[in-house]
Formats: sequence, structure tokens, C-alpha cells
Amino acid sequence: SDGMNAQDLGKILHREPAEIVKKLFMLGVMVNQNQSLDKDTIEILAADYGIGAEEKIEENISDIDTLYDQEMENTEHLENRPPVVTIMGHVDHGKTTLLDHLRHSHITAGEAGGITQAIGAYQVRHSDNVITFLDTPGHAAFTEMRARGANVTDITILVVAADDGVMPQTIEAINHAKAAGTPIIVAVNKVDKPDANPAHVTEQLAEYGLIPEDWGGDTIFVNISAKFGENIDELLDMIVLQSEMMELKANPDQAAVGSVIEARLDQGKGSVATLLVQQGTMHVGDPIVVGHTFGRVRTMTNERGRDLKKATPSTPVEITGLNEVPEAGDHFVVFPDEKSARAAGEARAKEAQMEERRKTNHVTLDNLFDSL
Ligand code: GDP
Ligand code: MG
Repeated sequence: SDGMNAQDLGKILHREPAEIVKKLFMLGVMVNQNQSLDKDTIEILAADYGIGAEEKIEENISDIDTLYDQEMENTEHLENRPPVVTIMGHVDHGKTTLLDHLRHSHITAGEAGGITQAIGAYQVRHSDNVITFLDTPGHAAFTEMRARGANVTDITILVVAADDGVMPQTIEAINHAKAAGTPIIVAVNKVDKPDANPAHVTEQLAEYGLIPEDWGGDTIFVNISAKFGENIDELLDMIVLQSEMMELKANPDQAAVGSVIEARLDQGKGSVATLLVQQGTMHVGDPIVVGHTFGRVRTMTNERGRDLKKATPSTPVEITGLNEVPEAGDHFVVFPDEKSARAAGEARAKEAQMEERRKTNHVTLDNLFDSL
């Protein structure tokens, strides 16, 4: 064919064609060295090597975190959005059982078959409402995300087993939720067990300021059995109630911004990232900068493996098309046009290159041991 291929690009960029093919693979483009490439792909690849954007970009454009913060504070065209919920609690108290129950129930008839892939987040429908669950019950993931400035959770569900009561990780979870400023809904689990003592759990939690309404407090408590699916609808009712009180809103009429829930390198698809859209609407084809990575939204699917053309606020999506694998907690920003995305991406790539150079030129015991 007559287009430019990996060999031609390798010559121009003074790189081995194999390296070009590998970079293309990261972008989800599977080609051999002789296959011709489309213009978008060449541009993104070139930008990855710090080539291509003619215009210098303003300082703040390259700072994704600043842009993210600005866009998150946007108060125009606000509309209701679904709550984003994280489930936390002590080991073996039933977090996974609850997440699995929700994953397999509470889907509409058209979605029979349920969730086909673990993408780190999913949505369930409850009456006319949608609720987004983060499927990362590890406290470590939660703190890591927060440490990176990604406050993606609106509501924390604290799962406490009624036969075991408050345990160390229960307290840890309370502290995380308080530090993140998210309201807590207490799900007293395993109430089906003969030795269940929900009243004791309530007494214990009062010490941590979690007091139910009928005791004069303002914390919602729901007794559930995750294993037998008991009272789950009531729990979902309470999540909806809590979220309505919070008046969660976002502007769907702008370019999307949000956070990375998780990301990985896939054998077949290259760089794959689960993103939570927090503001705006994301479309296939959007030029995007994600942490230190960039590209175009090449494919966008939901947790059911279904292709989406657009994703509105609070929607988790799995995307391909990034030049590298971003990190959980990274922010992303969709750019209005490809040129500025490329410019920002290029600036980011240069930063990363310089960082890399600093590392290699500046050998310390620490980074020496790191590389062993
Ligand atoms: P996690 O560590 O918090 O994710 O806890 P799991 O969901 O893995 O549950 C730990 C154990 O408790 C498993 O054997 C579950 O089957 C069991 N379990 C979870 N929820 C319930 C429940 O509501 N009732 C009973 N009887 N067992 C439960
Ligand atoms: Mg678990």
C-alpha cells in the first residue's frame, strides 16, 4: 500500500521499526512493519516522540490536574447524576458477596447475562435510578486513589457482619470515609445467621459517631443478608435517598473529565483503562490526555462488554487508544480538538522523557536498588 508504515516512521524517527510496532500495539493498533497507518495514529505516535505540534501551549494546558480541578468546579448546565458508591468493611464481612449479588441482580431484561468483564466499576438500575459501584473493595486502592487526589466516591457503604461486630478494618474504613468526607451508610450484614446481633453492632458504631435516626443520629442503617439477597432493595433505596439529599450534579454538555479507576496492558488490546466520567460527556474518537498518557478514545465499552458511543457523568467505561498504561487515580481530560490534546500530550511526554533522563543520569543508591 502507499501510506506510511512502521518502517518509514522508524527511519524518520531514528527508531527500530520493532519499537514503532510495539508503541502501536500499546495504542491498540495491531500491524506489521509494512502495513500503512492512518493519519491519527501517526500523529499520536509522533507526539509520543515529542514531534508534531507546531504551536507552543500555555503553561496550564499541560497541567491535567489543574484543568481537572477547574472543570470539576464548573457550575454551568448542571444536571442530576448517579451516585458513585464504594463498599468497605472488615475482611470476610461480606463485601464481595454484596458486590456479586448486585452484579447479577438489578439489571434490566435487555441486559440478561449480566456483567461480562471485571472493569473495576459497574452500574446497577434500581427503579428509575442508576447507581455506580466501584468494584475495588480494597482499602489500599481507596487510599491510593485519594492520595493521588481522586475523590471519586460519593457514598461509602460500611459492611459490618452482625455475628462479628466492629473489627480493626471496620474502624479503618470509617476513618477513610471521614477523611474523604463521604457519608456512610451502614449495611449490617449476615443477619440470617443464628448468632447475629445487629443491636450490638449499632451500639459499637455509636462510639464512632455513627448513630441511627431512631437513636437521634443521622446515619442510615440497613440490616441485610448479602448471601441470601435479603433487604438489598432497601439498601438501594437508602443509597438513592442519601444521594438525593446530596444533590449530586454534573454538566453533561462539556468535554469529559474524570479519573482512572484501573488500567492494564492487555495481550490483545494494548493499553486498556477503566475511566470514571465525572463531568461532561465522553465520545468515541475524543482526543484525550490521561495522567502521563494520551491518545484518542479508540473503543469505549461498558461492564457488559457493550460498545458505547457516549458516556455521561458517573458512567464507568473501559477505553483503548492510549499510548501508555496510566495509573489508578490519574485524572483525564478530553480536549476540544486534537491539536491541543497532542500538544498537552507532547508536553507530558517531554516531561516524562526528562524525568527518565534525570533518573538515568543521576544514579543514587535508591534508584540503583530499585532497578535490581
Ligand atoms: P469480604 O472479605 O468482605 O469480601 O467477604 P466475602 O464476601 O468474601 O464473605 C466472606 C464469607 O461470608 C463468605 O463465605 C460468604 O459466603 C459469607 N457471607 C457473606 N455474606 C453473608 C450473609 O449475608 N450471610 C451469611 N450467612 N454468610 C455470608
Ligand atoms: Mg472480598
